[in-house]
Amino acid sequence: MMSRSTIAWVVAVLVICTVIMAYVSMRTKEASAAAAAAPSSAPRKKTRHRWVLVLDLDETLVHTPNEGRADPIERPFVREFLRRVAETFDEVVVFTAGTKEYASPVLDGLDPERRIFGRRLYRESCSIVELAGVLSVVKDLRRLGEADLSRVRLVDNTPSTYALQPASGVPISSFYGDPSDRALVETLARLVSEVAMDGRSS
Ligand SMILES: [Mg+2]
Repeated sequence: MMSRSTIAWVVAVLVICTVIMAYVSMRTKEASAAAAAAPSSAPRKKTRHRWVLVLDLDETLVHTPNEGRADPIERPFVREFLRRVAETFDEVVVFTAGTKEYASPVLDGLDPERRIFGRRLYRESCSIVELAGVLSVVKDLRRLGEADLSRVRLVDNTPSTYALQPASGVPISSFYGDPSDRALVETLARLVSEVAMDGRSS
C-alpha cells in the first residue's frame, strides 16, 4: 500500500509531465507553422515554364573605353537589374562577342559570387552569317540547347546578333557612359511583365 504522501507525489509528477508534454507539443506545432509560412530561400519563379535570359555585355551592361583597355563603366542600375532578372528567370546566360580574356574579369566584377550567370558564352560561340550581303556576328540561340526557344530572350544593343531568332530579341540602346541612362530599368519592367503574363495565361 502506498502512503498518501507517495500518491500525492506520483500525481504531482504525472501532472508536471503532462504539462511539459503539452508545452513541447505546442511549441513544435508553432515551429512547423512558422517554417511553413516563411518564404523559401530558393529563387521565386513566376511561371511553370522554363524561361532563359541571354544578355550581351558590351554597350548593354557595361561600356569599356579604349576598346576594352580601360576599366569598364557599369550601366546605371546594372546591379539591381542583374539581381532581379536572376530572381525572375530560371537561368541567366551571358553571350558576348568579346574574348574570354577580356570579358571574364568584367563578368567576375559584375557577379563576384557567381550567382547570376549560369553560363558564359564568348566570341568563339558566335557565328558569322551573311545578312543582306554583309558578314555579321550572330548569336545563334540554338547553341543554348533549350527545348523551347519561344521562352528565351536576348537583350542586345546590336539587333543583327539576333537575326536568326528575331522573336527572341529584346532591343536596347547602346550605352557609352551616360550616367542618366535608364534603359535597364525599362528593359527590366518589360522582361518581368512578359514572364509574369506567361505565368497567368498558362
Ligand atoms: Mg553589345
